[in-house]
Amino acid sequence: MGNNYYEILGVSKESTKDDIKKAFRKLAHKYHPDKKDGDEKKFKEVNEAYGVLSDDKKRAEYDAYGRVFSGNGAQGGAQGFDGFDFSQFTQGAQGFDFDLGDIFGNIFGGNGGFGGAREKVRRGRDISMDIELSFEEAVFGAERKVLLNKTSTCEVCQGGGAKPGSEMITCTICNGKGSVREARRSLIGTFTTTRTCENCHGAGKIPKDPCTECRGAGVLKKEKEITISIPSGIEDGEMVRIPKSGEAIPHGTSGDLYVKLHVKPHAIWRKEGSNLVTDLSIPLSDALLGTERILKTLDGDITLKVPECVSWGEILRIKSKGVPQGKDGRNRGDLLVKIKIELPHKLSKTAKKIVEELKKEGV
Ligand SMILES: [Zn+2]
Ligand SMILES: [Zn+2]
Repeated sequence: MGNNYYEILGVSKESTKDDIKKAFRKLAHKYHPDKKDGDEKKFKEVNEAYGVLSDDKKRAEYDAYGRVFSGNGAQGGAQGFDGFDFSQFTQGAQGFDFDLGDIFGNIFGGNGGFGGAREKVRRGRDISMDIELSFEEAVFGAERKVLLNKTSTCEVCQGGGAKPGSEMITCTICNGKGSVREARRSLIGTFTTTRTCENCHGAGKIPKDPCTECRGAGVLKKEKEITISIPSGIEDGEMVRIPKSGEAIPHGTSGDLYVKLHVKPHAIWRKEGSNLVTDLSIPLSDALLGTERILKTLDGDITLKVPECVSWGEILRIKSKGVPQGKDGRNRGDLLVKIKIELPHKLSKTAKKIVEELKKEGV
């Protein structure tokens, strides 16, 4: 059992209970598996280390012998099972976190009386919401903060329901089995079903002192601010999923948050794939002689040179002023300017004369 509990928590051998508690809370928060960059393995290590070092008796044993004999760190509840000798497991479990359900599952084939404890992990409800984006936000991506009133994992106990540092005791409702048997009578006889114990949520153990923040539930309803990162180049109606930001559930994983994005149309631009398209109307004389126009782009105004003798529907391409592509957004589509030529509704006498001259020129 080479685990150095002091090293795991990043504290010295002389540190006080308070130091240890502080270090534990910081690390537990950092590695919590429900977090995006959490680390379940480290989280378990930290829990195990804290289970020993926060307990005076266990800490003294650990300091003296480098291991703990009195109970098993966080697995103190393992002795609660009747009819089975756990000593071999508790011995072996010094260095890792084991799952009682797994052991029973292996011994009893997974579908015996302990089936209830082997149910798959419960999952909280998904939440869906709508967000309206401006055209520019959809093109460049955006970050939005939203307030959701939802059931969230309790930050004080990290969802465990235990007051930080509390001992775990055997659940009295299921005697530590994690599941409860129910006999039901029917016309064809009595049959028994097994369901997960509601008191301990299948864990078989409950904290001796429940967390004061969530009253031991591990979750609580509260307003939570969630930051939603919207990638660039979003199309109207697209959906973004934020894993684990849905409703939390006691002793289960949180659901996901689905955000449907609505993009407001822009007054002058249309998005076509990675390109932006806009129309430019010019009078016939400009189409013939060429002109310059100030043109709005996503990156500010530019001067667009319209060459002479441009025709109706011709597209002028302005490179790299379109929609950012890819993760870094460095590749960008183009801005396409579609030429429309305004023809006069009526010609003045002078204009008519000039056009007749043009006709003679073969224009
Ligand atoms: Zn709590
Ligand atoms: Zn129980």
